[in-house]
Amino acid sequence: MTDLSTYREELRAWLRAHAPAPGPATDVAAAKAFQAALFDAGYAGITWPTDVGGQGLGPEYQQVFSDESSEYELPTGVFTIGQGMCGPTVNDLGTTEQRTRYLPPLLRGEEIWCQLFSEPGAGSDVASLQTRAVPADDGWVVDGQKVWTTGAQWSDYGALLARTDPDRPKHSGLTMFIIDMHAPGVTVRPLKDMSGRSPFNEITFDSVHLPADSVIGEVNAGWHAAVTMLGHERVTIGSRRTAKTNPLDFAAVRALARDLGVDADPAVRDRLAELYTRERVLELFNARVRQETAAGNAPGARGSVGKLAGALLSRLAVEVVGEIAGPAAAGWEADDERGAGLALGITSSPAAGIAGGTNEIQRGIIGERILGLPKEPSVDRGVPFRELRVGTQR
Ligand SMILES: Cc1cc2nc3c(=O)[nH]c(=O)nc-3n(C[C@H](O)[C@H](O)[C@H](O)COP(=O)(O)OP(=O)(O)OC[C@H]3O[C@@H](n4cnc5c(N)ncnc54)[C@H](O)[C@@H]3O)c2cc1C
Repeated sequence: MTDLSTYREELRAWLRAHAPAPGPATDVAAAKAFQAALFDAGYAGITWPTDVGGQGLGPEYQQVFSDESSEYELPTGVFTIGQGMCGPTVNDLGTTEQRTRYLPPLLRGEEIWCQLFSEPGAGSDVASLQTRAVPADDGWVVDGQKVWTTGAQWSDYGALLARTDPDRPKHSGLTMFIIDMHAPGVTVRPLKDMSGRSPFNEITFDSVHLPADSVIGEVNAGWHAAVTMLGHERVTIGSRRTAKTNPLDFAAVRALARDLGVDADPAVRDRLAELYTRERVLELFNARVRQETAAGNAPGARGSVGKLAGALLSRLAVEVVGEIAGPAAAGWEADDERGAGLALGITSSPAAGIAGGTNEIQRGIIGERILGLPKEPSVDRGVPFRELRVGTQR
């Protein structure tokens, strides 16, 4: 096995030679080509088992990859959900056939996955979801609706959470399925956010047939599969390093203040110092979580601390940019790349406090599981889902 410092040197040289310049929008074909090159060079699935195409290396090698690649904006975003969440869940809970069918193409960048959990009436309380999967002769038939599904417009497969037994309490009547996003009856409609982009979608399922072998794990054990996936999501978020090109990080905001000639203003310096301090503390916290994860100690509820702090930092950066740049933070000339970057950062930042669990939900987790505060009352515990009046219950 290559020692870590040689690995770092070789990776650094490879990235210098192969990392493409960032493009203005998601280019799926280019992303697939780059992922294939990563795979061929041995940098895909670094910690994944070798029998599904991974490298079988320890988390310290993944750490080196995260460190070195944070210097670039690699076009691997379309694979984050598949490789960071769905794939590891299939690896943990899937059958041998599922692992060998789905994991290698995911690593080679041939197939993209999405996560189909949230619905119009089920986000924070996702266990109240209503998409139904009903047994059929040779599998299941799915009807329902999902929303906010990131990347569904270019996904080949999805990890779908559906209700399979409404007579059980809400958490114990769910099943996770692999769904072919190109199957008849699946309709994907992109939704625009206020940045003007369409990062997510609304999906409807109209009598979609799923084969019997599409269940991930056990029937009616979907909540366990969902918790497994959310655990992988936390590790993925916690181990992510911010790209050095973030338009709203301290370095970028200080450069903006300097260029606008306000960096000597004591009030601006005060705010810059606050931004620097909170960014640095979060970096150190995340570095610690990464090291502990590498040592086999999963972050658990502390993942919520990093998630919440990141969302609050993003909100602070938006405030500081607004104070420094005034209206110029929201309006820019067509050829002003920095203005466009700032505007994108500003309009995208509220999503950080919603996606992957809202700030309030993270505060609830931190309160209960880290600070030991009393649990929220749960009036529906043990009640069959059919008897609940939740969301858009029909
Ligand atoms: C950019 C983005 C990408 C996303 N991608 C995906 C995806 O790929 N797949 C997917 O399945 N979902 C995805 N989501 C959905 C996301 O998980 C949900 O939006 C989120 O969980 C919140 O659910 P909701 O929008 O239904 O809000 P609600 O749950 O209805 O919450 C509304 C408000 O009530 C508050 N609230 C709710 N419950 C509590 C409580 N118990 N205590 C205190 N306050 C509470 C919330 O904090 C929030 O302020 C994405 C969302 C965004 C913004």
